Amino acid sequence: MSLMRKPIPVKEAVQLVMNHTQIGSSEKVPLDQAYGRVLKEPIIAKHDVPPFDRSPYDGFAIRAEDSKGASGENRIHFQVIDEIGAGHLAKRGIEKGEAVRIMTGAPIPENADAVVMLEQTIEQEDTFSLRKPFDTGENIAVQGEDAKEGKVLIEAGALIHPGTIALLATFGYAEVEVAKKPVVGILATGTELLQVHEELTPGKIRNSNGPMIAAQLSRMDIEYKSYGLLGDNLDACMEMVEKALAETDVLITTGGVSVGDYDYLPVIYEKLGAEVLFNKVAMRPGSVTTVATLGSHLLFGLSGNPSACFTGFELFTRPALLKMMGGTKPYLPRMKATLGEDFPKPNPFLRFVRAVWEMTEEGPVATPAGFNKSAAVSSIARGNCIIVLPNGTRGYTKGMEVDVLLLGVEEGVAKWEL
Ligand code: AMP
Ligand code: MG
Repeated sequence: MSLMRKPIPVKEAVQLVMNHTQIGSSEKVPLDQAYGRVLKEPIIAKHDVPPFDRSPYDGFAIRAEDSKGASGENRIHFQVIDEIGAGHLAKRGIEKGEAVRIMTGAPIPENADAVVMLEQTIEQEDTFSLRKPFDTGENIAVQGEDAKEGKVLIEAGALIHPGTIALLATFGYAEVEVAKKPVVGILATGTELLQVHEELTPGKIRNSNGPMIAAQLSRMDIEYKSYGLLGDNLDACMEMVEKALAETDVLITTGGVSVGDYDYLPVIYEKLGAEVLFNKVAMRPGSVTTVATLGSHLLFGLSGNPSACFTGFELFTRPALLKMMGGTKPYLPRMKATLGEDFPKPNPFLRFVRAVWEMTEEGPVATPAGFNKSAAVSSIARGNCIIVLPNGTRGYTKGMEVDVLLLGVEEGVAKWEL
């Protein structure tokens, strides 16, 4: 195994992963299970919304022309012939000088073309008066004003959020065509690793990456198969990777991907005949992140260092999984923020800093979340975003404008622009 690895730019690495990611098939799920899934069919308006002209207020439906000439000195009186709440129809249309007392959401009676709000009237038994003329169409929610039948409202590939659910329900989608979720496996490697319930012993640490990746997947509403943790043993790891590949579409491993004596993942990729897309990325943390393909399988070899592992998942694994599901906005959303404190370290590589962003009166401010080496675990816990610092500079000072990648936001973006 050659120790020479050529780092490639992050953008190129992301592109390579995405180019080798295939879009999977779809399935139908009941509407109440569709939240968080990717739409595989566009939402086309099956009917006008609203489906009939209706009142947006509680008031009286009138013929606008009957209100002509009304003023404070010349109040015009109407005869109320009916009253309807939402869900009901007026018994008959109105004629000259007549009105229907109407509540929000009720269909406009025939011949009526304006609604007078209750507050704009003085009522007396079954009559009322008003003091201003109304225009034709005033205070009418017109059929189709929200959506016209046949119009494509949401494209396939959109992530289904609560608003999407509302639209699907509006059109009676009891079932929704969504992307099948990829089956993802997680395997942690490292002889030093203990399970979460085990007591610390000299030289050992608990496996934090496995549970972290599981939660990163859960945040995407993707289930996973855990292949537990294995020591740095080539045969055992090889066997488990083969088993995992037979059962999953995507295998995420952590650890063992570097150039150390006990880093066996590179050997395993070679033995499997997997195509390594890259094994060095010009980024910190996570420069050893390796991605390989084998048939339609994707293998993400994430670093064992927790911050590197976390970042590798968010930058490479997450968008690939979203693309597999047909997602059209697979990348983390980005915004500009002001750097909240100095970050004096020079950046030979593009740097991703776990950070906390907050809205202030001067706009969003992002501050590094503490100890920020690639081995850091505490800053991942505190961070709610990742600051992106371009390479080739001699550190950053408080107050500079920086790019920030937002974590845990439902809707991503379509383009990778870093
Ligand atoms: P490696 O990528 O195997 O060279 O590991 C890099 C560093 O990450 C070492 O200090 C490991 O002990 C640590 N590490 C590896 N795997 C894990 C894990 N699953 N959870 C927490 N730390 C880990
Ligand atoms: Mg290791």
